[in-house]
Amino acid sequence: MSDCIFCKIASGEIPSNTIFENEDFRVILDNGPATKGHALVLPKAHYADLYEIPEETVMGAVKVAKTVAGTMKEKLGCDGLNLVQNNGAAAGQTVMHFHLHIIPRYENDGQHILWKPTSPSSEELVEIRKTIVGE
Ligand code: 5GP
Ligand code: ZN
Repeated sequence: MSDCIFCKIASGEIPSNTIFENEDFRVILDNGPATKGHALVLPKAHYADLYEIPEETVMGAVKVAKTVAGTMKEKLGCDGLNLVQNNGAAAGQTVMHFHLHIIPRYENDGQHILWKPTSPSSEELVEIRKTIVGE
C-alpha cells in the first residue's frame, strides 16, 4: 500500500524508534504513547485489520508481543501490561494497517484502558448468545 504510513514505517522507508524486528514484523514506539514504552507490533505486509490478516500472521504478532512484553517487564519495570487491538473506526482504529498495541502499565499511571460495564438481563444475554451461535 503506497500511501500507508505503517507500511512505510514497517519497511524502514520512514525511520522509527524500533525496539524489535524480524523478517515479518517491526515493533516501534508509539509517537503518542499512553504510557512509557507504549509500542506497536506492525506486520511488514499490509492487512487492514483482524478480518484481513491471515491466522498465522496474527499468531506471529502475538508471539512477538510476548517476547517484547518480557523485555518491557525486565527493562522498564512495568507493573502490568495491556494488549489492545482496534478494528474499525467505531472501535477506535485510526491507522488502517493492522497493529497490536503493547501498553506497559505502572501503578497509578493515570491511564484508563477499561470499559464501563453495562447490566444486561439474563434473558438479553441468552438472546445475544442465540444471535451469535444461531441456536
Ligand atoms: P489505533 O488508534 O489505530 O489503534 O492506533 C494508532 C496508533 O498509532 C496511535 O496510538 C498513534 O499514536 C500511533 N501513530 C500514528 N501515526 C504514527 C506514526 O507516524 N508513528 C508512530 N510511531 N506512531 C503513530
Ligand atoms: Zn500498510
